[in-house]
Amino acid sequence: MFLKRLKALSRSLAFRLTLWYAGIFALSSCLAFVFFYYVIIDVLREQTDEDLRRQLSAFSGIMQVEGITGVQQIAAMDALSGGDQKRLIRLLSRFGTEFTAAGTDYWQNVGVNAEAIRSLLTNGRPVIETVVLPERRDSLRIIYGIIGPGVIMQLGRSLAGEIRLINVFQRLFLTTLGLIFLLAAIIGWFLARRALSGVGGIAAAARKISAGDLESRAPVSGRQDEIDQLAGTLNHMLDRIQTLIRGISEMSDNIAHDLKSPVTRIRGLAEITLTTAQSDDDYENMAASTIEECDRLLEMINAMLFISRAEVGVREVRPETVALKALVGDAVLLFETTAADKQLRLCFEAVTDARVKGDPRMLQRMVANLLDNAIRYTPPGGQIEVTVDTVVDSGARIEFRDTGIGIAAEDQERIFERFYRCDPSRTESGSGLGLSLARAVARAHGGDISVESTPGKGSTFSVILPAGPASP
Ligand code: ADP
Repeated sequence: MFLKRLKALSRSLAFRLTLWYAGIFALSSCLAFVFFYYVIIDVLREQTDEDLRRQLSAFSGIMQVEGITGVQQIAAMDALSGGDQKRLIRLLSRFGTEFTAAGTDYWQNVGVNAEAIRSLLTNGRPVIETVVLPERRDSLRIIYGIIGPGVIMQLGRSLAGEIRLINVFQRLFLTTLGLIFLLAAIIGWFLARRALSGVGGIAAAARKISAGDLESRAPVSGRQDEIDQLAGTLNHMLDRIQTLIRGISEMSDNIAHDLKSPVTRIRGLAEITLTTAQSDDDYENMAASTIEECDRLLEMINAMLFISRAEVGVREVRPETVALKALVGDAVLLFETTAADKQLRLCFEAVTDARVKGDPRMLQRMVANLLDNAIRYTPPGGQIEVTVDTVVDSGARIEFRDTGIGIAAEDQERIFERFYRCDPSRTESGSGLGLSLARAVARAHGGDISVESTPGKGSTFSVILPAGPASP
């Protein structure tokens, strides 16, 4: 259980970020310490060498004034006084023969480096070397120099003090590094948890949504950071999806309702005819009604297919140049009798003979649907005006203005959805497909339809189509 948790934790982004953060922090501190370490070692060595050179020149001065006996006396005194530096002094001939030595009791194993003497005699410059004595945990820095004619001095001093300093520095460095790593891990963990806290909220919301709670939303902290933006975008997307799902479910309800009614009527009629029919006329009537209902069903199915085709795009069909004045004028003529039957005044005016590129059959169907709606939703005595003109920068415009029942503001965008009808009781005949078909055709031609309406006063549907070639 614990191991499982540990495994999950090691896979978490917060853990990995913390590790990176602490690692980078520790690495940079390490680099800084290593740099200081080498600088300190360099400075200490430089100081020791300088000290040895100074002492060598002091002995050289004594040699000049007091001769070799003076040097021997000082060397003996130095060996007796000992001190922290534990000096080693040897006076040698140019062939390496020892005149005098001091401090050899302490530095028993340290001999004379013949190579160093050779180099000194060749170059004439003092030679400095380090002799490491691991068994003593000590090192000796030795200088070989000429202090008088034919007299070479081997002068060494212990590096114990420097080694102690460096050891202290190393211990300090390791402790500080450990503390820095720990501190960086704590700070890193805190920062990573804080930065990723929103992600946990989003994941929890996503889990709830996939479990079926479509109302759930990702929490927005208000910090306006990237996580907040992500949560906001996700919530916006979820709102859209929920609206779409609601729309689809409403649409399927409507489809079911609209397809069910004719089928129920056909079935009812068949049942009644079977049980009560007395003559062939009754069967003929039933057949006629069945054909009528089937036609209605077919009409709906065809309309749906037509919309799908139009949505695929008019580019599928070879476009022709269509003169809107003639096309709309013909449709108005066709509907004149229906309008007159309902005591409606139907007027048509073409301000310009606008031309568009498109499919004339599709456009005819769009115009017919809009005209049919205007007539159906305008009570007797009303008026319908149809105009064709051109709008600068937009293209051709066909307007259908009626003095009908109007459309409520909340219905105005939804009437273009498939099967949507403002009257929920569906008392008026219709499929709820006319406007979605009209919009699909307009959009397939690169245009669109909009509506302006005041309930009780009337509606205006405007179709905008991109202008085609200029009129001849
Ligand atoms: P329908 O077959 O029901 O007319 P449409 O898609 O053509 O389907 O129209 C959708 C709904 O929009 C209609 O049910 C009606 O409520 C409303 N509507 C359409 N045109 C008009 C109009 N000119 N005046 C008032 N309401 C309209």
